[in-house]
Amino acid sequence: MHREDILIIAYLISSVLFIFGIKNLSGVKTARRGNFLAALGMFLAVVVTLWDQKIVGYELIVAGIFLGALIGTVMAMKVAMTGMPQMVALLNGFGGAASLLVAQAEFVHAPSHDIPVAVSIVLSILIGGVTFTGSLIAFGKLQGVVTEKSVMFPLQHPLNALLILVTVALGLFMAMGAHGVESLHSMGMGFLTLDRLSYIIAGIALLLGILLVIPIGGADMPVVISLLNSYSGIAAATTGFVLQNTVLIITGSLVGASGIILTQIMCKSMNRSLMNVLLGGFGQTPTVSSGEKKQITVKEIGVEEAAMVFETARSIIVVPGYGMAVAQAQHVVRELGELLEKHGAQVRFAIHPVAGRMPGHMNVLLAEANVPYEKLLEMDQINDDFANTDLALVIGANDVTNPAARHDEASPIYGMPILNVDKAQTVIVVKRSLRSGYAGIDNELYGFDNCLMYLGDAKEAISKLIAEIKASK
Ligand code: NDP
Repeated sequence: MHREDILIIAYLISSVLFIFGIKNLSGVKTARRGNFLAALGMFLAVVVTLWDQKIVGYELIVAGIFLGALIGTVMAMKVAMTGMPQMVALLNGFGGAASLLVAQAEFVHAPSHDIPVAVSIVLSILIGGVTFTGSLIAFGKLQGVVTEKSVMFPLQHPLNALLILVTVALGLFMAMGAHGVESLHSMGMGFLTLDRLSYIIAGIALLLGILLVIPIGGADMPVVISLLNSYSGIAAATTGFVLQNTVLIITGSLVGASGIILTQIMCKSMNRSLMNVLLGGFGQTPTVSSGEKKQITVKEIGVEEAAMVFETARSIIVVPGYGMAVAQAQHVVRELGELLEKHGAQVRFAIHPVAGRMPGHMNVLLAEANVPYEKLLEMDQINDDFANTDLALVIGANDVTNPAARHDEASPIYGMPILNVDKAQTVIVVKRSLRSGYAGIDNELYGFDNCLMYLGDAKEAISKLIAEIKASK
């Protein structure tokens, strides 16, 4: 068998591994296997690529692998669960930068006369550049290095549109090669060479990445990151066309498609359009829903009263939210669940698709705390059960339980599917205050007759509750 054939077969195997990897990642139970299969596919792709005869020298590659692996391992070990979105943003950004650099190098050193390849180069530079700086801004906003607020200035959107048009036009001239440059010269732009054109396009793409992400508020970054993740996949796929590398085309397309699907799911679960997210401005200022701002009277309880409610509850649904992640309360929550089960109660967890600040946020935290997978139920599986449940325990969740989403047309979350916690016989909400959540609106649930507020940091409050329940038995 020829070297070329082995290469093709190995790339095919690694592509199949990626596809099975993604399939497995879609279920909690199979996610570990999915991760392993995808990593195996990547390992195979890297080994085979290194064995490819087009490799000029190994020294820099090996040094890069060691340095990259070292930095990656340290980052992965140090990152806190709540810091995951910014880590993903950074990695997306590097993917975009790699596509930009490879395409730029390919263009400068071996300019292609083939139009499809030249178009792929332009697209890699453009999308790679936007992804790189856009992801860095997203990282900065989440890390608190760049202001979380939406940064707007007059004529911002028209300026962005103009820059996109200019880049596309310049990209067309660049893709046309020598003819394109001649046309530009005849228009009086004699200073433009093909190389310069590629650098200008890269420069504008990098600027566009910044300008497109700064108007978006920090809280919307997870959606932006998912979108940029999709862009980094598209950039990788176009780079695959540049390098004539099939595995890059396939993986890039997989990332591009799954990123856009995830973005769509997130927007749908938040009841927002992608345009609404990209144009910025959501969650910046507290919003008052329809009519006058209603004064809510809440019933506050202490740990003893809370423990008494638990004593009589036979069926309990725990609803975790962003506050559980902030407090890192997942371990005590698992402990509480086990304790209640020991006392004969049925305990299940209801997971809203956008609870927390990133997709699968609650699943990851509860899995980390060893809560059995079968106890974690998706919204659609469990929502009808609240009506037959003694107690809904809401831990640091807010927007995903706000009944205003069902009826208040003026509410920014109107139409967002929510967990029906209010239908349970009793609801206990654990959070530090009556402050709003991500959407910046009051939660009318807190004023409901069956709702009791047990205020405090989630970890502390649940720990005290465990101690109280143990002491009273
Ligand atoms: P919310 O942001 O609505 O509410 C979280 C609540 O947690 C706050 O009201 C806060 O109240 C409380 N909290 C914060 N720290 C603590 C703590 N230490 N202990 C106890 N409570 C605490 O979260 P939800 O999970 O209900 O909803 C997620 C929101 O994020 C949705 O609006 C969703 O659209 C949005 N979103 C989700 C994304 C995702 O992928 N999951 C992506 C982007 C946005 P207090 O300050 O009083 O303690």
